[in-house]
Amino acid sequence: MHLSEIGEFGLIGRLHHLLGPTSDPDLVQSIGDDAAVYRVGEGRVHVVTTDALLEGFHFDRSFTPLERLGFKAMAVNVSDIAAMNARPRWATVALGLPTTIGVEEVEALYRGMARACERFGVALIGGDTTAAASLTLSVTLIGEAREEDVVYRHGAQPGDLICVTGDLGAAYAGLKLLLDNRDALRRNPAHQPDFSNWQYVLARQLAPTPRLEAVEAWSRAGVRPTALIDISDGLASEVHHLCDASGTGALLYEAALPIDAETRALASRFEEDVDVYALFGGEDYELLFTLPERQFDQLPRGLFVPIGRMTEPEAGVHVQTAETGEHVPLQNAGFNHFARPEGL
Ligand code: ADP
Ligand code: MG
Repeated sequence: MHLSEIGEFGLIGRLHHLLGPTSDPDLVQSIGDDAAVYRVGEGRVHVVTTDALLEGFHFDRSFTPLERLGFKAMAVNVSDIAAMNARPRWATVALGLPTTIGVEEVEALYRGMARACERFGVALIGGDTTAAASLTLSVTLIGEAREEDVVYRHGAQPGDLICVTGDLGAAYAGLKLLLDNRDALRRNPAHQPDFSNWQYVLARQLAPTPRLEAVEAWSRAGVRPTALIDISDGLASEVHHLCDASGTGALLYEAALPIDAETRALASRFEEDVDVYALFGGEDYELLFTLPERQFDQLPRGLFVPIGRMTEPEAGVHVQTAETGEHVPLQNAGFNHFARPEGL
C-alpha cells in the first residue's frame, strides 16, 4: 500500500495500533498529542516530544540561513512542549550531515540552537552525529510540569471559546516569498531580491518564536485551558485535531482571524486570499486553545484573540465567512506528509 492512501495521520494510527496498549501505570499520555507525558514523582510529570527538520522537505538550504535553521529546530520542539502547558528543560539532537557541509556551517547551526536554548531555558545535553544524504536535524525535548497543569488536545466542551496567540498565515507568506524569489533567481541569476519590506514574514518562516509566554500568562492568571495544541500544520488541521480529540464541533469567525499587515500585503501582491493563508498555511507555531468564556476576562489583554467557539459534535466544523456570514464547512486540510496532492 502506498503511504498516500492513508496519509501521515493514518500511518501513525496504524503504527500505534501495531504497538498495542501499554499498561505502564506511570504513563499518562502516549501517542496522539503534541507530546507524551509520564510521571516522575508525586504530582510531577515529564513531557517529551521529537520533531525533525529535513532538507528538501522542511527547508531549502539555498535560502535558509543555518543559524536560523538551528534556532527553528529547537523552537518547533519548544512549541510542542508549550502545547502541553509545560516548560522545556533538556534536549538531545541527532544530526545527519551531508559530506559536503563545512565545519563552520555546522557551527552556525549550533549557534542558532544555543541561542534558542538560552532563550527558552533548555539545556542541550547530548545527541548523535552521522553522515546523511541531506541535512537532517532531529531534536528530542523533555519538559516538566505538574500533572494537574498539563493540557491535552481533548477536554474542550461545546460552548468554550476558541482562542489563539499572535497572528496567522505569516510563516506561509514568508515561504511564498522565498520560493517566489528562488524561481526568479533560477530564471535570472542576476535577480536582486529586495526583502526590506518583508522582515516580519521572513522571520516567522525562518526562525519562529514558540509561545512560552502564554504558559506563563495562564499560570499567573490561574487559568488552565480546557484543550490546547500548537499550530504546526495550519489552523484548520489543528482545529480538527482538537474537535476529534474532544468530541466537539467548532465554528470559527473568519473576520476575527488575527493577520499581520505584512501578511496581508504579501497575499495581495500574489493576488491570493489571505484568509486561506491564515486557515491552511502551516508553521505559525502559535498556540490554539479553548476555555470557558467567563475565564477569558481573567487573561491579560493583548496576548490572546478569540476566533471562534466549540459546538456540539453534530454541528461539524465550520467557518462563518466575513463577507456573507454564511457557515461553510472547514476542510480538514493542511500540511500532511504523504498526502496525495489534489488533482493528481
Ligand atoms: P506534532 O505536529 O504536534 O509534532 P505529530 O502530528 O507529528 O505531532 O504527531 C502526532 C502524534 O503521533 C504524536 O503523539 C507523536 O509522538 C506521534 N508519532 C508521530 N510519528 C510517530 C512514529 N513514527 N512512531 C510513534 N509515534 C509517532
Ligand atoms: Mg504540535
